[in-house]
Amino acid sequence: MERLWAPWRMEYINAADDEDGCIFCLAAAGDDAARLVVHRGTHAFALLNKFPYSSGHFMVAPIRHVAEYGELSDDEVLELHRLASAGMGALAEVYAPQGYNVGWNLGRIAGAGVVDHVHLHVVPRWAGDTNFMPVLADVKVLPEALQETRRKLAAAWPG
Ligand SMILES: [Zn+2]
Repeated sequence: MERLWAPWRMEYINAADDEDGCIFCLAAAGDDAARLVVHRGTHAFALLNKFPYSSGHFMVAPIRHVAEYGELSDDEVLELHRLASAGMGALAEVYAPQGYNVGWNLGRIAGAGVVDHVHLHVVPRWAGDTNFMPVLADVKVLPEALQETRRKLAAAWPG
């Protein structure tokens, strides 16, 4: 089985506990550019992952601070998936990925960096991206690049 090689993820997981407040609640209440928010809905919103597995890796989260997947309301579940779908539409237009990994990491053991505010990951994939990920590791934190990605995806967001 091939795996995306993303060593900075551990840094993120370790750092998540040190963040002063919930990053999703901060993003929900905060500035789009500062918090890398790409799109806001009624019950949920989309934001870029600050430590992406690949370019354009974004997350959707309910605006409400909810830890349990099963506690999401029908409205939240629907909009979370609609935003994931719309975001894939924006990614298709801007970066033309060849595939996606879409998923929930529920609980620390499952790889969740933030365990008390559920969120859905959308990771665009290209053939050979497992090979260029080590190269990306050298440029793991690029605020300008993230802002550029945020701006492009926000502009390409359908609807
Ligand atoms: Zn929260």
